[in-house]
Amino acid sequence: MNFNRAVIKVGSALVAPTQEGCSGKYTLAIAQFITKCQQQGKEIILVSSGGVAAGRSLIQHGSPNLSLSTKKAMSSVGQMQMMANWQRFFDIPCSQILITQEDLADRRRFISIKHTIRIQLDNGILPIVNENDTIASASSSVGDNDNLAALVAQVCEADCFFILSDIDGVFTKDPNVHDDAVLIPEIDKITDEIYAMAGVSRNHLATGGMKTKIQAAEKAVENGINTYIINGTRSEVFASLLQEINPGTRFSADKDIITAKKHWLKHSLRSHGKIYLDAGAVNALINKGASLLPSGITSVNNKFEAGDSVDLIDVKSKKLIAKGISLYNHNDLKRIMGKHSDEIASILGHDEGDVVVHRDEMVIL
Ligand code: GLU
Repeated sequence: MNFNRAVIKVGSALVAPTQEGCSGKYTLAIAQFITKCQQQGKEIILVSSGGVAAGRSLIQHGSPNLSLSTKKAMSSVGQMQMMANWQRFFDIPCSQILITQEDLADRRRFISIKHTIRIQLDNGILPIVNENDTIASASSSVGDNDNLAALVAQVCEADCFFILSDIDGVFTKDPNVHDDAVLIPEIDKITDEIYAMAGVSRNHLATGGMKTKIQAAEKAVENGINTYIINGTRSEVFASLLQEINPGTRFSADKDIITAKKHWLKHSLRSHGKIYLDAGAVNALINKGASLLPSGITSVNNKFEAGDSVDLIDVKSKKLIAKGISLYNHNDLKRIMGKHSDEIASILGHDEGDVVVHRDEMVIL
């Protein structure tokens, strides 16, 4: 399969198919697929729904239309069950990451999530993300895990996004109603017509329907991430994927947007500071595609915050060689410049990761 890092979103219908606790009925095959991907050296981040569905039988409720507070209570107890259900299929450790829309909108929290995921992937851990439903309010939540997963795919710079649910993909009409509905294997452009084909959710414990899946696909492809909607109830789809056969609907990434990200970094983002690099760092950035480490920094100019865009300058020739997003502010950088990455935590008392500017957030000029 032609990807390096994928977000796999698994819907409640697969995690808790009977809505009475979690089950391995579908999750086992998904876990096996994840393990095969990891064995091929690919990085996987799982976004799993099912907290509410898994906790449903543990909280008293009278009606199928659950109140928000009942759902919150269910999600908090069901989340434990859901995590335990995943962990039993993996030899590697799983981590739990609970986030809301507010966390993704806040730059510091966004960077924290990004670092946590990156460090966990480097350590062979499977991050499992869900919305923090217990504390999220209508205004602070993403609201559905399809869109949440698309945002996570952006945070961790995935190049592939799988949305697994109990439907085969996008159909020309609702296949439950129309016998002549046809699966659309490839969607190059998400138009109003595609949205019009999306039906509504029939599962009262899951939030999304086809509409949120298409919204999520749109977010992802705009960020250069190929997206698939796939029926995770059919274990044979995973064999197909491993053989590079598309078993569902594929939305192809917008190639122009990939360039646009670099374009945005290069042209639209005002630099807040300057970081001067020694010859070793200049060579590593230009010729080896490396990230910038504190050891290669000789000096820092101007005030900037973590997350700001900075100019990377060759101290010898004074030439601007790259632009990128600094993960440390100017004060912290002055203290760690010239030092080995291992020393960051002891010098600063905190650690935002080994690198100062990650390769993915840098454009060589
Ligand atoms: N976060 C919800 C849960 O874990 C699911 C939201 C969704 O289905 O999109 O139950």
